[in-house]
Amino acid sequence: MLETPHVAVGVAIATKFPNPWIAIPLAFASHFVLDRVPHWNPHLYTETKKTGKPSKKSTTIALIDIGMALILGSAFAYAALPDRGMALLILACSLFSVLSDAVKYPYYYLKIRSKFMVAWVNFERSLQVDTKGVFLGIFTQVVIIIASVWWALN
Ligand SMILES: [Zn+2]
Repeated sequence: MLETPHVAVGVAIATKFPNPWIAIPLAFASHFVLDRVPHWNPHLYTETKKTGKPSKKSTTIALIDIGMALILGSAFAYAALPDRGMALLILACSLFSVLSDAVKYPYYYLKIRSKFMVAWVNFERSLQVDTKGVFLGIFTQVVIIIASVWWALN
């Protein structure tokens, strides 16, 4: 799944579970649940297998997605001020919601192929549920973003 829906859910968790001992593990765990929701992803793995690295197009999509995720998490953290505890919790939950994917970037972009890295990339891949079409695969993620933002605001 893209990072923006993961962060949207992470933000919602932070706002609904103000105890960091609950919110942070929940945000981390939410990643694995969301990857089971049918979705579309750029094909970083297939491209890396084929040509040694992700394509320019996929990298651009990944960067736009990461940028949107950063803006979303930061905007909610900023809006939580002057409650610095909540602002920090939102940032922490945003980070933990995407940690499972962030761990994989060195595999793709720094060509790190340690045993742990390969095992993690394979584990993550085994979780993914892909949609047949791109449209449906984006649609499910837009719904998750909208629902999470609504949940966080209400
Ligand atoms: Zn993932």
